[in-house]
Amino acid sequence: MNRLTGKTALVTGSSRGMGRAAATRLAQEGALVAVHYTARKDAADEVVTEIEKDGGRAFTVRAELGVPGDVHELFLGLESGLRERTGSTDLDILVNNAGVMGGVKPEDTTPEKFDELFAVNAKAPFFLIQRALKNMPDGGRIINITSGLTRFANPDEIAYAMTKGAVDQLALHFAKYLGPRNITINSVAPGITRNDNPVFGIPEAVEQMAQLSAFNRVGEPEDIADVVAFLAGDEARWITGSFVDATGGTLLG
Ligand code: NDP
Repeated sequence: MNRLTGKTALVTGSSRGMGRAAATRLAQEGALVAVHYTARKDAADEVVTEIEKDGGRAFTVRAELGVPGDVHELFLGLESGLRERTGSTDLDILVNNAGVMGGVKPEDTTPEKFDELFAVNAKAPFFLIQRALKNMPDGGRIINITSGLTRFANPDEIAYAMTKGAVDQLALHFAKYLGPRNITINSVAPGITRNDNPVFGIPEAVEQMAQLSAFNRVGEPEDIADVVAFLAGDEARWITGSFVDATGGTLLG
């Protein structure tokens, strides 16, 4: 499968978790992938090494999101990496995946925490899209990772869910704006998905979380990566502005 040969992609937060799986999957499809991270250089380097071992092409880009100058810093690294490898700065696929969860009760949510969540999860994706559009040729793809928590109540994650509700709006409104350029933009909403949070090492906790899915298991990063790869390809050319429920049936009630 080389559906994305000749394409370039940026996956934010792809040193770990589902971002890592998406970066790996897009590279398997032939895309040159920018593996973005902020702190875990070791993990990001490992992703690139694995992709290259598999015959793919990737490079790392570091930038902390949610702080002044974040988008500028990211694009400095991105454009230099792209230019070096392709002779151009075209970016065909943007996956806004990097995000932070809250994990705080409503009464313990401080204004500082609230602002941090919005800065990383909602503000950064908006300005990344704004900047990426300068580099994105017609027919490009934008995929935003939101969350099933925009439709499934969890009082410990109110502020986080608000940020993801804001991210959902990006697809609706940008889809109309970008249609004339044949650029699609969609939301992918994971349910509980395995990452390196220690909770996934506790069998009783995993069993409890699994019960939220219709399939009685927690999501794997690859479950989401496959959806991202589909939306990034030509087969998804007629899908834009949509909310893709990738929660394994958690939202069925
Ligand atoms: P992980 O927690 O496994 O990884 C987070 C990634 O984002 C890492 O690559 C990390 O970089 C990067 N990152 C975090 N904060 C920043 C920041 N301020 N600036 C730049 N990069 C940052 O992620 P998950 O796979 O769990 O989640 C991915 C996305 O999916 C997130 O948007 C999350 O909200 C959403 N989601 C997750 C669910 C889940 O159950 N896991 C459920 C629903 C939605 P580094 O390695 O350098 O720290």
